[in-house]
Amino acid sequence: MAAEIRLEGVTKSFGGIIAVKEMNLTVNKGEFLVLLGPSGCGKTTVLRCIAGLERVDKGRIYISGRDVTDFPPAKRAISMVFQSYAVFPHMTVAQNIGFGLRMRHIPKMEIERAVKEVAELLKIDDLLNRYPAQLSGGQRQRVAVARAIVTRPAVLLMDEPLSNLDALLRLRMRAELKRLHHEIGTTIIYVTHDQIEALSLGDRIAVMLNGEIVQVNTPTQIYDRPADRFVGGFIGTPPMNFLKATVAADGLMIRGFPITVPEEWGKGLKGMIGKVVLLGIRAENIMVHPEPKKGELTAEVIVSEPMGSQQLLTLQVGDDVLKVTTRPDLRIQPKQVIGLSLTKDKIRLFDKETGKALMFD
Ligand code: ATP
Repeated sequence: MAAEIRLEGVTKSFGGIIAVKEMNLTVNKGEFLVLLGPSGCGKTTVLRCIAGLERVDKGRIYISGRDVTDFPPAKRAISMVFQSYAVFPHMTVAQNIGFGLRMRHIPKMEIERAVKEVAELLKIDDLLNRYPAQLSGGQRQRVAVARAIVTRPAVLLMDEPLSNLDALLRLRMRAELKRLHHEIGTTIIYVTHDQIEALSLGDRIAVMLNGEIVQVNTPTQIYDRPADRFVGGFIGTPPMNFLKATVAADGLMIRGFPITVPEEWGKGLKGMIGKVVLLGIRAENIMVHPEPKKGELTAEVIVSEPMGSQQLLTLQVGDDVLKVTTRPDLRIQPKQVIGLSLTKDKIRLFDKETGKALMFD
């Protein structure tokens, strides 16, 4: 039922603008893949190319191994849910959901059964006789999703489907989409610029920038081991911290203080002694000590913000600014000088000029 999708060297431009550049991507059968990136990076264009709503300039698109590059949308066994989930206002919920099946001249009894089944799956079976105007935003969104999956598409494409909902509803719908995916097993490609949504929904995330994929991997790998400075800074709240560090004979130095790194990096770092790199570390992987220990890297506190379950500190280390999360009850004052220790296994290094990750493990 679910399909594999493969993009090979897909390029699409509009006039002089290259929206998607030589893109290669395989989405596995039954996978929930999130396309994540800032506004204008080409996410929607990729989706529209897969759906057949845009003709690609170059490259091929395969669905279940079949070259569909020249197929019209109707022949691709794909459904799509857009941000502006247009439901037909003059049709009831049941008629909206059954629309695609009626177009295919499926017998009435069968349509009724299929509509009831997906309506139950999406918990809108008590709303079947209502009109869209009588529904909340979240309910309307569920109707749009129900309408997209009732035809049992091999692929479901979703373009920012939750962005018109309020924060609480988004949170609920997110969990429901995940459950739905487990139940129907369809391959889903989901476009968002919201990194939290991407981390929580995706089996894998493809991070895009300027029409290209920068990194494709599981949420954990993308969070822990970003391929470059952009990915580290785009994913995570707060974003990854970057500190200038100098490679020394036995590790790294920041402002004259030694920083311990994983032992296995020794060989890789040897050829770089004296070079300045960017050390990347996430807020939760920095320990703070109100009384600095001897020989320990120090920082000056700029602001401390209580966030309920934790406290967010903004710190100054030389000309670098750091965000660190701590226990909520740790008493820290602005201007205080505190000690920092970094969890060595969580340190990542990046080239200062190119921003690319330096991998030694
Ligand atoms: P957003 O998150 O803002 O929706 P996106 O990542 O989905 O952005 P696209 O909509 O794919 O980005 O757009 C990629 C680039 O292609 C942008 O520079 C956009 O202006 C351009 N573009 C997209 N569609 C068209 C079009 N029909 N005509 C001209 N330019 C277009």
